[in-house]
Amino acid sequence: MNKILEEKDFIRRIEEISNQKVSDCYQCGRCTAGCPFAKFMDAPPNQVIRFIQLGLKDDVLAASAPWFCAACLVCQTRCPRGVDIPRLMEAVRMIHLRAKEGLFDVDKIDKEFLLDAPPLALMSAFSKYTY
Ligand code: SF4
Ligand code: SF4
Repeated sequence: MNKILEEKDFIRRIEEISNQKVSDCYQCGRCTAGCPFAKFMDAPPNQVIRFIQLGLKDDVLAASAPWFCAACLVCQTRCPRGVDIPRLMEAVRMIHLRAKEGLFDVDKIDKEFLLDAPPLALMSAFSKYTY
């Protein structure tokens, strides 16, 4: 019983943060087929969504996909159910970051690196690793 409640809480939390309904996904796989980063992920986008649907919190939080996701929106435009997958990925990152996991400590960034790093890469990192 406790396990079931925990699973429902996790699904609800992801849905609240992302404003998406995970049961809308019917696992067609079109998102993964178009994702330019799927080959680098240990579990591709549709599989991460399946983990969420099943309330498999540990599998969702261990997945690399939310960190590889570049929010390019290809998956979202391909989804026949209108699921905003980048927002789901962002919700998973938020759960990590709110637990202080993976947070970017701006004060610890090497000054030399800051001078050389491409501004776009810095902006992307700040948006992904801070909240
Ligand atoms: S494209 Fe949409 S419906 Fe198909 S697997 Fe991906 S999220 Fe689910
Ligand atoms: S938004 Fe993320 S998950 Fe979707 S296709 Fe782009 S990289 Fe892949």
